[in-house]
Amino acid sequence: MHSELFIDGAWTASDSEELIEVIDPATEEVVSHIAAGNEADINRAVIAAKGAFEGPWRKTSGADRAVYLRRIAKAIEDNKEKLARLEVMDNGKPLPEALWDIEDAAGCFEYYAGLAEGLDAKQGERIAVSHDDFVSRVFYEPIGVCGLIIPWNYPLLMAAWKVAPAIAAGCTCVLKPSEVTSLTALELADIVDQSVDLPRGVFNLVTGTGAAAGAPLATHPDVSKLAFTGSVPTGGTVMGAAAQSIKNVSLELGGKSPIIVFNDADIERAVEWIMFGIFWNQGEVCSATSRLLVEDAIAPHLLKRLKEEAEKIKIGHGTDEGVLLGPLVSQQQYDKVSRYIKAGKDAGATLLTGGGRPPHLDRGYFLQPTIFTDVDTDSSIWREEIFGPVLCVRTFSSEEEATALANDTPFGLAAAIVSADETRLERVARALDAGIVWLNCSQPTFTEAPWGGMKKSGIGRELGEWGLNNYLEVKQVTAYMSEKPWGWYTDT
Ligand code: NAD
Repeated sequence: MHSELFIDGAWTASDSEELIEVIDPATEEVVSHIAAGNEADINRAVIAAKGAFEGPWRKTSGADRAVYLRRIAKAIEDNKEKLARLEVMDNGKPLPEALWDIEDAAGCFEYYAGLAEGLDAKQGERIAVSHDDFVSRVFYEPIGVCGLIIPWNYPLLMAAWKVAPAIAAGCTCVLKPSEVTSLTALELADIVDQSVDLPRGVFNLVTGTGAAAGAPLATHPDVSKLAFTGSVPTGGTVMGAAAQSIKNVSLELGGKSPIIVFNDADIERAVEWIMFGIFWNQGEVCSATSRLLVEDAIAPHLLKRLKEEAEKIKIGHGTDEGVLLGPLVSQQQYDKVSRYIKAGKDAGATLLTGGGRPPHLDRGYFLQPTIFTDVDTDSSIWREEIFGPVLCVRTFSSEEEATALANDTPFGLAAAIVSADETRLERVARALDAGIVWLNCSQPTFTEAPWGGMKKSGIGRELGEWGLNNYLEVKQVTAYMSEKPWGWYTDT
């Protein structure tokens, strides 16, 4: 039972006194409860974050902030096994994948510790301007109080992608995790409480639903920055809320990413990346390569191999040995993906494999790895984000056709291309409307590299230095020198 929120450096009861059930998606059992935070809780958290920001925090050096970030990284690493098991219980993903996420989360805090230190050296860099009488320098200031709203597919990792750069930049924050998966965010708050000695109010956590806790955070007048990851409709609502008081906003939204496989591809390697691109994390991945475009000549053999491999995937509880596919996160998500599978069948797509509940599992939100071929480009399964283990396939006969099909989507998060022809790989990569393009692979994600989408997949980039810039204001300070050059301004 987690009936408390972490506000102003202390655990505190929610104003609402209501609780939300935590359900293990593999067993459908209620395993815990979390507080259903509300507007009053958000208000308290924002006041605490604002107080901390206006206090000494905004003036701390990057090197000072790096110390806290490294403590968080170490505590996550030290509690890796516990955190990973919580993630399995909350989200359903297989334990090895959860362990991978937790290590990535620790790595993210460590990485932004380095960038925080690097920020000190960049402060006041002189830039060349076209008039000798003036000297211009650039400073990077933290934006202020940040509202961080995250989804349920990578619970701790998504928190890390936002909390780490926000703290590195010198901002303070209120984290609102998904009401479906808040357990590791609560552990993160516990880590901050127990092992980090972070000044109070810098990190605050309010659990609760989108309507009761997310919306008041998005509209709060004292929140200067909103960083949101989630679905396109909610992203639109958050952006609308941000517009009311002209908040800085970054959005990481959904996708319907293509993977294009050309005739000259190594088929066995292509099969591996296709499988990884759609069945990892039950397909609940924003960048999942959920549309397969395969060139005519290799299509029969590639699809035969895909079917064989998909049917070998071991489905079960995330902590069972050898399991590669766990349950979907919730009854709601199970119903949503099931509706899409039905829509695919109704629209006349050919079901190559899967399409239902695995026969050996009568409880839990389990679905088989599912592949549809001959998918109509107008059908909902081709056009909309399913966010489950469902691959939609079409064939193509020319590079132009493949590129056009790949780009024919309102989304633009990621894309993958598999081919032996280097020139073509580069040419097609440049032609695709996607923020991330993988060549001869799918899904590798690096903390150092920019992450984010074009079109309806979002605004801005997380990770790398781009992730830090999300939380910084850029200030130019320009001095007039002709009368009397002075002090620090003329030093190079
Ligand atoms: P969601 O949009 O339903 O919820 C995301 C978060 O927003 C949750 O914390 C929710 O409580 C909150 N929320 C809901 N209504 C709100 C409101 N009115 N105001 C403020 N906050 C509100 O998304 P989800 O179902 O949790 O996550 C799945 C979606 O996230 C998918 O579309 C997926 O593609 C996307 N996603 C994108 C990325 C990326 O990096 N681009 C990464 C992970 C997930």
